[in-house]
Amino acid sequence: MHSWLTDQPSTHTVGFVPTMGALHDGHLSLLQRANQENTISVCSIFVNPTQFNDPNDYNAYPKTIEADMQLLQENGCDALFLPTEAEIYSAPAYRQRSYDLSPLDERWEGANRPGHFQGVCMVVHRLLEIIPTHRLYLGQKDFQQYLILKHLVNHILQWPIAVVPCPIIREADGLAMSSRNVRLSPQERQDSLVLFAALQHLKETLPFQPLDTCLAEAKALLAKAPSLQEVDYLSVVDPIDLSPIADFAQADNLLAIVAAHFPHARLIDNQVVKGKLL
Ligand code: AMP
Repeated sequence: MHSWLTDQPSTHTVGFVPTMGALHDGHLSLLQRANQENTISVCSIFVNPTQFNDPNDYNAYPKTIEADMQLLQENGCDALFLPTEAEIYSAPAYRQRSYDLSPLDERWEGANRPGHFQGVCMVVHRLLEIIPTHRLYLGQKDFQQYLILKHLVNHILQWPIAVVPCPIIREADGLAMSSRNVRLSPQERQDSLVLFAALQHLKETLPFQPLDTCLAEAKALLAKAPSLQEVDYLSVVDPIDLSPIADFAQADNLLAIVAAHFPHARLIDNQVVKGKLL
């Protein structure tokens, strides 16, 4: 992959979309953007063990490689990088790298999934070493991951790669698309709609009511889902550094974020509730 890309004419640009497979329209929207803005699009599929803090989640991660390859072909992907674990972590040193991500990794996903963002940085660092990338396409669905990878590329590695955020693609009923959604039982799939409902409620009520009241009402919506087991967080934050805000007037742009456990999957979502994200 590395020599094929470095042998391309110097006028080429590579748009790279890293994924863990079980592809859906969210992934394909990133590929579409990579195709529009570059001469070569590359997708990777690698279920990265170092970013899973829960072994059950890793073992149950959906794998649909044949269907994925067909989708990539139908959607104009120029090259698929499908490495083995031994190829990505070919030397022990690649698993021992550590990154100073503070304070971006201290809250939310970072606090709830110890080691997760170190693993994400480890794999993306390796992928970018192998794939000489001009533009890196990431989904806003994982907004904290986007902020952290932008920090990795721009400040830690200082490589000349544009990090391009892409909007969240949702099912018709509002659920943010995710590879893990296929694991939800029919009841959980039905109940999962409370995540988007809670975010929408915050967006609609925040201009008119105190923040605490809005959050309490949104939490009450989450509590209506019988199969929702635990809410890791529901909060309104400043999208620059993900710090929680005290009131609606505090910043021009605000993001509502949520993460919750269902019996077969932990789901996350977010939504701009004031201004714009980027
Ligand atoms: P994953 O395969 O879950 O690691 O995701 C690979 C990339 O696709 C990441 O940059 C995600 O943020 C992005 N992505 C996942 N779901 C969505 C979605 N519903 N809309 C937009 N991008 C997404």
